[in-house]
Amino acid sequence: MKLAVFSTQPYDRTYLTQAIEAHNTSNPPTPLEPHFHALPLSPATTHLAAACPAICVFVNDDVSAPILTALHAAGVRLILLRCAGFNNVDIPTATALGVRVARMSAYSPESVAEFALALTLTLNRKTHRAFNRVREGNFALAGLEGFRMYGATVGLLGTGKIGLCAARIFKGFGCRVLGYDLFPTERFTELGGEYASLEEVLRVSDIVSLHCPLIDAGTRHIINAETLAMMKPGAMLVNTSRGGLIDTAAVITALKKKTLGSLAMDVYEMESSLFYVDHSGEILDDDVFGRLMTFPNVLICGHQAFFTKEALQEIADGTCQNFQDWVVGTKSPNVVVEGRAFGS
Ligand code: NAD
Repeated sequence: MKLAVFSTQPYDRTYLTQAIEAHNTSNPPTPLEPHFHALPLSPATTHLAAACPAICVFVNDDVSAPILTALHAAGVRLILLRCAGFNNVDIPTATALGVRVARMSAYSPESVAEFALALTLTLNRKTHRAFNRVREGNFALAGLEGFRMYGATVGLLGTGKIGLCAARIFKGFGCRVLGYDLFPTERFTELGGEYASLEEVLRVSDIVSLHCPLIDAGTRHIINAETLAMMKPGAMLVNTSRGGLIDTAAVITALKKKTLGSLAMDVYEMESSLFYVDHSGEILDDDVFGRLMTFPNVLICGHQAFFTKEALQEIADGTCQNFQDWVVGTKSPNVVVEGRAFGS
């Protein structure tokens, strides 16, 4: 069966090719035939899914209503997400069309939590700036001062799979860990975390790390002018979840007013036109992103928190498993939308 795989980089192809070969050996009646495309799914590339009952997409592929309608008309019945978040898929339209959508609901949450820690330590102790200074023979320390993590208060917005890993890690540093979640769990308190209201978490935390999903009517711009004003003056904000959780204009204002101490972001609201592509020879068109890059206390990465060998392996294997579950009609916790049966 043909599978159109969008937004693929060489590393995706390597891991997916190996996983698909193993899948085809174990499931000879339903072999997968991948067609890899470097281009993202967009109105201009929808035709690449022709004759493919299934497609595979990533975080910034456009799976909006018009595209879903075009895909359905072309015969697509299964959308395999190589990511946990599904904010880029129009779920009501997929449901109405009977197109099954399956995501990677759990793949190496430790990888993302560890990256949140990496950003926190880098931004705090400024090792990225020290690296450049030392290479130029500049051993001055002025401007590199950080704060001790031990005893600091870390606030986690979202205490799901990644938030729990972050809680374990920050507790290991001797931090006080607070959590805000609509659905509190015992596991978080067992790890030594303390639940509090959103306002309380923001008011007392030295570091606020975002680990909730992007939901239009729920968490979009959960960090906005009002909630930024609640934050402890000088606090650090870390976002490894989704760019849309932060109102970027409001965060720039808070940085300019020096009320927000520092910002680390692995994700950005308008990242789809920037990330995963080398734009180094081009003139940047995004003035908001350009402004963010001028702050010495802002650290930006290009949506790489997931990017470990283990996560890539789990994504590739899980994608094949999600495909096979669809073929045999298995119920799976990875299914976001239950589509029509295989072959219909
Ligand atoms: P999860 O579903 O296990 O946990 C999310 C938690 O957020 C849940 O406990 C949920 O109750 C909570 N939540 C939902 N709405 C909330 C709200 N309004 N306020 C507070 N909490 C709320 O998800 P996860 O596996 O921990 O992943 C979290 C997010 O991380 C994903 O949705 C995805 O967007 C992001 N992510 C980013 C990367 C990356 O590479 N940067 C990789 C994987 C996942």
